[in-house]
Amino acid sequence: MTTPPETGSFIRQLHGPLHSKASEYGGMAQTVTIVSRQQWGAVAPKSRAALKDPAQKVVIHHTANPSCKDQKECMNRLLSIQRVHMTEREFDDIGYNFLVGGDGTVYEGRGWGVVGAHAKRHNHESLGIAFMGNFKVDMPSTEAMSSVKRLLQSAVSQGFLNPKFTLVGHRDLGQTECPGGQLYAALPQLRGT
Ligand SMILES: [Zn+2]
Repeated sequence: MTTPPETGSFIRQLHGPLHSKASEYGGMAQTVTIVSRQQWGAVAPKSRAALKDPAQKVVIHHTANPSCKDQKECMNRLLSIQRVHMTEREFDDIGYNFLVGGDGTVYEGRGWGVVGAHAKRHNHESLGIAFMGNFKVDMPSTEAMSSVKRLLQSAVSQGFLNPKFTLVGHRDLGQTECPGGQLYAALPQLRGT
């Protein structure tokens, strides 16, 4: 039995398409294209809860599975991550709010303003973003880093993220190696403007 793909994300319907304006974080107007759940064939979440306020915190993860370099490869990976999160881990949906592939393409996970399942005790105040791949040894690509920066700028300008947000790696909040040493070392680049 398969669950049919969603016909659309209600969050996106509420907030409209993603276009960032000039933001306090980052200065210049930036846009970032996001591959929607519908486009990658996500199944509908079992349930969904809205964040009460703009997120205070950004938590960076890696998916700790093989990297993907193009949309076809990444979309297959997304389906399998969502399946594992919903069946083996019994989450309501893929755990992260957004994911980014090696080519810099951003994929909608739970999306904006939705409580994730990615960092125990911090899900209700944070935005969870996962780099697809394992960054224990691999370096995050320039494209992925720059896309995540633009995603954060966009989040602030749309009011989903407090302009004074803090950005941490998953390991700062719990017993995990996530997001891998190489990505963890690159996090200061995401904090700067
Ligand atoms: Zn993590």
